[in-house]
Amino acid sequence: MSREIPYKIYLEESEMPKQWYNLRADMKNKPAPLLNPETLQPITFEELSGIFCEELAKQELNETDTHIDIPEEIQKFYKMYRPAPLVRAYCLEEKLGTPAKIYYKFEGNNTSGSHKLNSAIAQAYYAKKQGLKGVTTETGAGQWGTALSMACSYFDLDCQVYMVKVSYEQKPFRREVMRTYGASVTPSPSETTKVGRQILEEHPGTNGSLGCAISEAVEKAVSTEGYRYVLGSVLNQVLLHQSIIGMETKAALDKYEIVPDIVIGCAGGGSNLGGLISPFMGEKIRGERDYQIIAVEPASCPSMTRGTYAYDYCDTGRVCPLQKMYTLGSGFMPSPNHAGGLRYHGMSSTLSQLYADGLMEARSVEQSAVFDAATQFARVEGILPAPESAHAIRVALDEALKCKETGEEKTIVFGLTGTGYFDMFAYEKFNDGKMTDYIPTDEEIAASCAKLPKIN
Ligand SMILES: *Cc1c(COP(=O)(O)O)cnc(C)c1O
Repeated sequence: MSREIPYKIYLEESEMPKQWYNLRADMKNKPAPLLNPETLQPITFEELSGIFCEELAKQELNETDTHIDIPEEIQKFYKMYRPAPLVRAYCLEEKLGTPAKIYYKFEGNNTSGSHKLNSAIAQAYYAKKQGLKGVTTETGAGQWGTALSMACSYFDLDCQVYMVKVSYEQKPFRREVMRTYGASVTPSPSETTKVGRQILEEHPGTNGSLGCAISEAVEKAVSTEGYRYVLGSVLNQVLLHQSIIGMETKAALDKYEIVPDIVIGCAGGGSNLGGLISPFMGEKIRGERDYQIIAVEPASCPSMTRGTYAYDYCDTGRVCPLQKMYTLGSGFMPSPNHAGGLRYHGMSSTLSQLYADGLMEARSVEQSAVFDAATQFARVEGILPAPESAHAIRVALDEALKCKETGEEKTIVFGLTGTGYFDMFAYEKFNDGKMTDYIPTDEEIAASCAKLPKIN
């Protein structure tokens, strides 16, 4: 049977997943447990539920259930902006002159402009169900803060966002979108927390970092009655919620009996990649089918390709649980000229374990090559991609061009995580020919990794 494949493959509402897929339950080598930062012992449910909502703490620790029901309220919300289309990039293929077949799963069809809403709505739902007053969080580029603001306003929850100072100043419109949804936004580091005041004293004039905004948000949550902290990436629970991306992708491909050879995603903390690859990786782990799976990270923040696999703190203030992951060290600050997002020092523990076990590859790409790919893509496919997403585009183009040389008709699927309308300063730099690449030296990475906590 060979049916004509449409430009966009949509699922019917009735075909949308009703359960998330918990990849960890199928992993033979489980990721190492989270550690309590004070005792350095595996963290318990009781300890974790002091920081996170109870249901989310349960999901964080669940490595036995392969499937977890998506509550009906969340399914309803998903239906407002999902299913997300799986697009066959016919125009791009033609432009490249490649025999490869390229598909992308587009997650930018909501106001937050990214996949982050998939987890934000779940986290807000569980917070509401627990009777909380509100949540705190951090945001870097602003997509997570926007997604969470949207989710909290839907469930009438207070939302307090610590926004990395440099983004707060460079992306005033992001801030206003969040405020429109009723969130309060504070530039980080700030005077509103002990850890913020301490960081300001040690590094006056600092532009802030994700790690330090996380510390402030956690401190605020644990010191305010009726509040919990929520995080938009890295955690197991976030990968679980993002499995909706992969499950929809797989269902859409199955409808037309398409089997990808290569699955590609960008990796910051690993949530979209972990979600996109989950059903494919599941088949691979169970020995049912093989796929080439590629994580793409920026050359300026190369946690998988050049980091160390070790226990590390998830935040600069060292208040969060420790996680075993590929890391550049919690004090690592990517060069200030890095515009392309994905600047977190570590990586999801699940993806780290899969990478350590050789089940996936990682590549790093330089930002001028990333923006070049973004521009090529925008000009033929119509969508102005987020710089983060453009990392995946870069490698998809590279693989498609390899097929052009070899004549192979590989099927490539990549995650197009979002749109880049709030990143026009970065595009401006690229268009003006002023974008430069900065790759940290071995010495810089070694110096940062030398400060890793000494565990095991
Ligand atoms: C946050 C974000 C990413 C990176 O986060 P992951 O957790 O690694 O998925 C990628 N693309 C977009 C558009 C984002 O907003």
